[in-house]
Amino acid sequence: MVGKVCKSVLYNVANSFLLESYLCLRLYRMPCEVNRRFLVLYGSQRGQAQSIAEGIADEAGEQGLVADIFCLSQHDKFNLERQRDPVVFVVSTTGDGEPPDTSLKFVKNIKKKTLAADHYAHLHYALLGLGDTNYANFCNCGKTIDQRLQELGGKHFYATGHADDGVGLELVVDPWLEGLWDAIKGAYSKMASLPTESSGSLRDSQTPDLRDSINKPSDSSTAHVKLSLLSLSNAKAQSSDLPGEVSEQSVAQAESSSMSEIQSGDTVAPPAGVEASLTCSLPPLSETSLNVPALPPPYLEVKLQEATTEEEGSSPLSKETVHEVPISSAVQLTSDDSVKTALLLELDISDHPMAYQPGDSFDVLCPNRDSEVEELVQRLGLQDRRSCQVQLSLRKDTKKKAAQLPSYIPEMSTLLYLFTWCMEIRSVPKKAFLRALVECTADSGQKRRLQELCSKQGSADYNLYVRDSSLGLLDLLTAFPSCSPPLSLLIEQVPKLQPRPYSVASSSLRHPGKLHFVFNVVEFPACSWWPAGRRGLCTGWLYDLVDPMLVHHGKADSSSVLEAPRVRVSLRPNVSFRPPSDPSAPLVMVGPGTGVAPFIGFLQQREKERGEHPEVVFGETWLFYGCRHRDKDFLFREELQGFVGNGSLTHLKVCFSRDSQDQAGPRYVQHNLLLHAKDICNILLQQNGRLYVCGDAKNMAKDVNDTLIDLVAAELHLDKLEAMKRLASLREEKRYLQDVWS
Ligand code: FAD
Repeated sequence: MVGKVCKSVLYNVANSFLLESYLCLRLYRMPCEVNRRFLVLYGSQRGQAQSIAEGIADEAGEQGLVADIFCLSQHDKFNLERQRDPVVFVVSTTGDGEPPDTSLKFVKNIKKKTLAADHYAHLHYALLGLGDTNYANFCNCGKTIDQRLQELGGKHFYATGHADDGVGLELVVDPWLEGLWDAIKGAYSKMASLPTESSGSLRDSQTPDLRDSINKPSDSSTAHVKLSLLSLSNAKAQSSDLPGEVSEQSVAQAESSSMSEIQSGDTVAPPAGVEASLTCSLPPLSETSLNVPALPPPYLEVKLQEATTEEEGSSPLSKETVHEVPISSAVQLTSDDSVKTALLLELDISDHPMAYQPGDSFDVLCPNRDSEVEELVQRLGLQDRRSCQVQLSLRKDTKKKAAQLPSYIPEMSTLLYLFTWCMEIRSVPKKAFLRALVECTADSGQKRRLQELCSKQGSADYNLYVRDSSLGLLDLLTAFPSCSPPLSLLIEQVPKLQPRPYSVASSSLRHPGKLHFVFNVVEFPACSWWPAGRRGLCTGWLYDLVDPMLVHHGKADSSSVLEAPRVRVSLRPNVSFRPPSDPSAPLVMVGPGTGVAPFIGFLQQREKERGEHPEVVFGETWLFYGCRHRDKDFLFREELQGFVGNGSLTHLKVCFSRDSQDQAGPRYVQHNLLLHAKDICNILLQQNGRLYVCGDAKNMAKDVNDTLIDLVAAELHLDKLEAMKRLASLREEKRYLQDVWS
């Protein structure tokens, strides 16, 4: 995972790159040179794209450039129609290939059919798209913007990057960022040949065109490339002869380099039999020179003040869209010996304006676990300051571009509140965070290992010991005991605690004033960090919350809870994933496991509508459901059979992946789809029907998609590519819809 930009500052134990960096900086800081500008635009849903964009803007100064940075929603602040400087886009994709909320308007605007084919002929841009191949429409927002800018005459000055969160964004992000600077500098050469009268970004309209007063860019670019090829072995000797003016960056590098030099020189070969681990590396990594990310510029100042008022210790309720509602019932849908535990919760929303539709989901605001918060407070030595109010301000001397106070931390929060409700303390630390932790680590061996983990050379170790192990901040601080980060660094680097979305599993027609949802309790297997294993943050918390009132599968309700536990929730309407407005349209629903949730809502609604409108013709409904065992985890079994009995569900196709007596039959939902290929194709291709898929994004949704491609190809005698196009157009028409998660 990458958040802060991992730029490649050349930082070498043998000082070998120092000369090169120094000369590059000198070249771009000639006295007569005015820093050149470029524009960074980001479209971010959960902060990743914003964080990368901010990293680019932060680094610009060190590259002798000036970045203006804006969110794509801030259309009053930039003007692409008049933009003559290079533009860098960093955009993520959300949901079913949708643009982030903040980019919707921008995407809509550039899609306008009235725009001329040369509308953006003046635009020189580079684009980094973030996505996740576990979901359909990988990097769709980035691809859409890119394609549309191309159609409108825009020109790439650098190849587009598509980073995949499914395998680690940094695999693409890091090299992309590394090459970006040369590309931007190269772009100036090309753009210098543009007629000056065409200049006119928003900035240009207010200030003179700066390009007239800069050195010929091609000179410096060429020099830069040549310098990069300098023999590294000469560098150290030559660096001592360099003239006096040394930039802060060079100093930082020099300090870091010498630090690393000592560690590398002191590295003692580990005793035979020692294995690599989070805290220990083996040659060649332990002996190699490292390229590490730039130190993220600090930007927050934190003061802890004795609290004067008692603060309530619960989640933010500031937004009117957040409702605190009681949990009115909790049922375990799976048997006690099932591999997964699925719970069905009912929320009493009768006193709240939460008008939901089947297909919608909603967010649950959950806290970090008390025990983990307490451990963190202790580890940071802040146990006596728990109830202090945290006062945040921006550092006056910060080099961070567009530095802002984190909007998700309410003013005057106590330290305990901050750790409990605001920060995702279990999140996997990004490389930039590790880089910053190096500076707070006293022990030289631990320092070196942290450097390795955030370095380019240590990428495989980072993936193995940090990312794939879901290592959190606490685990890291336990492993590196001499690391003592200041609170300000944690607030800067630990992301916002995200609410967890859940699909509504009811219809308000059938359950007025109530909202149902179903979830599997996420279980992390035991490992050296958590010998007893651990539960997912939200599902584990919900489980503990409802434990005293939980009704077990097939047992009568004997619980006697005095006060219903309450949770804070916020509705997330989904305008596409809804039952068809035309009741006669046939629909196919594919939802194994908890993926059946929205379809329970669809079918409850259908049942009610059929009862109330016997004169209406309703289209046929198919549900493809799957689980491991008929008797252990067949969720909503009786209710589904009831829908079949009363005609709301025309076809229920169920398969069991682990029941030996069923092994001859279909094992997974896609196998059942194949068995009913003719009907599915007929519904989709002839009858204007719809197909909905809900549940696991990683395997199921992909397998179902592949099967649909095969079905369409066979039915229409198309090759695979044509069949994929056909499915893509069904998606466009919103007749093939997904609501998937991993
Ligand atoms: P977290 O603490 O956030 O941990 C989950 C993370 O851990 C995931 O990233 C996962 O990849 C990873 N993980 C899971 N198991 C392991 C493991 N064994 N080892 C290592 N890593 C692991 N979920 C439902 O159950 N029902 C729903 O109806 C539902 N609807 C959703 C609707 C939408 C639109 C979306 C986006 C998600 C939905 N989810 C649903 C998923 C849900 O939001 C949560 O992600 C899920 O409940 C886990 O939350 P958690 O806080 O308990 O887990």
